[in-house]
Amino acid sequence: MSVLTVEGIYKNYGSVQALKNVSFSVPPGSVFGILGPNGSGKTTLLGIIMDVLKATQGTFKLFDKVPDADQRKQIGTLLETPNFYHYLSAQRNLEIAAAIKGQDKSDIPRVLELVNLTQRKESKFSTYSLGMKQRLAIASCLLGNPHVLVFDEPTNGLDPVGIAEIRELIKKLYHQGKTIIMASHLLDEVEKVCTHVAILKRGVLIASGDVNEILANEDIVEINSDDNEKLLLILKSLNNYTHIKETGNLLQLFYPVNTANLAEINRHCFNNGIVLNHLQLKKKSLEAKFFELTNN
Ligand code: ATP
Repeated sequence: MSVLTVEGIYKNYGSVQALKNVSFSVPPGSVFGILGPNGSGKTTLLGIIMDVLKATQGTFKLFDKVPDADQRKQIGTLLETPNFYHYLSAQRNLEIAAAIKGQDKSDIPRVLELVNLTQRKESKFSTYSLGMKQRLAIASCLLGNPHVLVFDEPTNGLDPVGIAEIRELIKKLYHQGKTIIMASHLLDEVEKVCTHVAILKRGVLIASGDVNEILANEDIVEINSDDNEKLLLILKSLNNYTHIKETGNLLQLFYPVNTANLAEINRHCFNNGIVLNHLQLKKKSLEAKFFELTNN
C-alpha cells in the first residue's frame, strides 16, 4: 500500500508553471520530506493533495484510491498557522477545533500530552511562545488520531529550541507509526527527521527516494601524476569507485561514503608504473550535494 501516489502532476498559475510532471510515491510509516528552495512548488503540491488547489494535469491517489472526503478525513493537515482565539486557553481552542471537525473532545487530553502542553492547557493562547503555538497547531491536527499528517514548513519562524521541540515531536509521531509528509526548504531538517525525500527545483522533481541514498555523503579522492592519460588507463583496473571526473589537472574518484582506501589507490598506481604527485581525500558535505542537485 502507498499512502500517496502522485502521477504526472502539472500546475500552472497563468503563465507560471509551478509544477511540471511531478510523480512519486510515499510509503506508509515514513517521514517524507518535500525539499526545495523557496518557490520550487512545495506548497502548491501540498495544496493539490489536500484539495485546496486543482492540478492543471495529472492525478494522485490516497491509500491507493481516487481521493474522496473519507480518505482526506484520515489525514491531519497543517498548511498554514491556524487562527486560534488569542483570549482563550489551549483547552478551549482545541474544544472549538474539535467541534468544527465534528470530533469528540475526549481526545483533547491525549493530544495535549503528545505535544507537551498539558501543564499549560489553561493558559491563554496569547501567552504562548511561537513554539508552543506551533505545537498547539499540531495538537489540533492530531485530533481524531489520523494516521497521516501533512505539515508545510512546520519549523518556520521558530527559534532553535522551538525547532528542536517540533523535530522531537515529529520523531515521536513517526515511532507511533504515523506517516508524515512535510515540506521544507531546510536540508538539515530533512536530513535529521526524514526517512524519504522528494527534491523539487523550479517545479521539477529532480530526485526522490530513501534519504540515505539521495542525500548520501560521498568520499572524493583527488589524484594526479605527470601522465594523467596513463593514470586514467590504469584506474580502469581499480575497483570500488562509482565514477571518475576530470577537473583541470586533477582526477576525482568518487566512492560511497567511508569506502575510499588511499593506501590501496597509491599501491595500485605505483605497481602499474605511476607515481602520484597528489593524493587527497575530500568528504562531500550534504550541503554540497543539495547545491549540486538543485543547481545542475
Ligand atoms: P515557499 O517555500 O516560498 O513557500 P514553495 O516551494 O512552497 O515556496 P510555491 O508557493 O508552491 O513554492 O510556489 C511555486 C511557484 O508558483 C512560485 O513561482 C510562485 O511564485 C508561484 N505561485 C504560487 N502561488 C501562486 C498564485 N496564487 N498565483 C501565481 N503564482 C503563484
